[in-house]
Amino acid sequence: MKHGDKQHGKDKKPKHITELKPESNEAMDIRGIPTTVCPCGSMVWNLKTVFNQDDGSIELYFVDMECAQCGTLATAPTPVNGTLEE
Ligand SMILES: [Zn+2]
Repeated sequence: MKHGDKQHGKDKKPKHITELKPESNEAMDIRGIPTTVCPCGSMVWNLKTVFNQDDGSIELYFVDMECAQCGTLATAPTPVNGTLEE
């Protein structure tokens, strides 16, 4: 460890960028109701997805998602046809 590291303290190892969470007390858990906009106003979500190998479109995604801005957990909306959960 060198001096000048931006972060020190509780986090012992650096997180991968996909695991970064805003350090915010505003994070909530509003899972259950399909949501497109976070209560914080963000419309960007982190979630797991599978791409279509032919055209690159999103073929499948998991409905558990997390706000990219505040870390709130929410449920992704699904298209009219059925659920993609599990
Ligand atoms: Zn948010």
